[in-house]
Amino acid sequence: MKSPKHKVSVVTGGAGFIGSHLCDSLIALGHQVFALDNLLTGSESNIEHLASHPLFTFVRYDVTHEMPIMPDVHYVFHLASPASVPDYQKYSEETALVNSVGTRNLLKFTRAYRAQFLYASTSEVYGSPLEHPQKETYWGNVNPNGVRSCYDESKRFGEMMTMLYVRKYGLDARIVRIFNTYGPRMRKDDGRVVSNLINQALSSLAMTVYGGGSQTRSFCYVSDLVDGILRAMLSPKTNGEVINLGNPEEYTMIELAKKIQAMTKTTSEIVFNPLPEDDPDRRKPDISKAKTLLGWKPTVSVNDGLKKTIEYYRNS
Ligand code: UDP
Repeated sequence: MKSPKHKVSVVTGGAGFIGSHLCDSLIALGHQVFALDNLLTGSESNIEHLASHPLFTFVRYDVTHEMPIMPDVHYVFHLASPASVPDYQKYSEETALVNSVGTRNLLKFTRAYRAQFLYASTSEVYGSPLEHPQKETYWGNVNPNGVRSCYDESKRFGEMMTMLYVRKYGLDARIVRIFNTYGPRMRKDDGRVVSNLINQALSSLAMTVYGGGSQTRSFCYVSDLVDGILRAMLSPKTNGEVINLGNPEEYTMIELAKKIQAMTKTTSEIVFNPLPEDDPDRRKPDISKAKTLLGWKPTVSVNDGLKKTIEYYRNS
């Protein structure tokens, strides 16, 4: 029988940007948390405030290896993976493996503990979408062997493996597709548009917009995203479901750059750099399913979230 005292959660990628915020929220809920991370792109500085917390344990671990034996486990959140474009291109093989071999290891582990599983997938499974906004039922438009495929296709594989375990073994598992997320603890040099533009603006450096800047993205503040992840794991009737999580407020990259320029009162100019290969034109989640199933919607506007993120980078 499961111990009734504390629910036990395993968070892979627990020292990462989203993973560390998830650990904070789980501890606030009274869970005992094991954060697993090989620190390839995560950082111990994201979890140092938790280091002496009695409910928190950090294990430096690469989940592409067989999982270690643990005390009873109730929930497994699989977030481990490089996630920014420069990171997953630098660590292409590691990215492919953590989402394939790593996902299978974690599914086996979850099954052995009769626990619940959540797979952190991505809006990248939609590729450069031909449907707008993207609903969970859309199958996507992905280049299967392009420069982003180590991420897109391994996440698609991870989704397949998760559903295989649901169908073949009756595992209690769900998939969330995470759209662009930003906020404190995203690495300054992560290479994503929000961290790049804010840090360039704060250092009076040229603000780099790739391509013509007419491509769009929809940005979700990290606290909203973590709330969605928790609801996806803990709400009834999410077993076997695929759920988009993101903020549907959609901006072109030039609009975003101008907004950050105004908010930081920077003297930086906007410059246009080449568009990376296979960069999607548009991206905006349809979140009707999350609203109905989880009673979830983002509560932090892009203006408020950017304000908090700018403050964070100013002070770090
Ligand atoms: N981008 C940009 N300037 C930057 C970094 C990225 O204009 O300094 C663009 C990038 O080409 C893409 C969008 O911003 O069209 C979002 O990029 P990001 O890497 O943040 O996320 P993803 O491409 O994974 O959605």
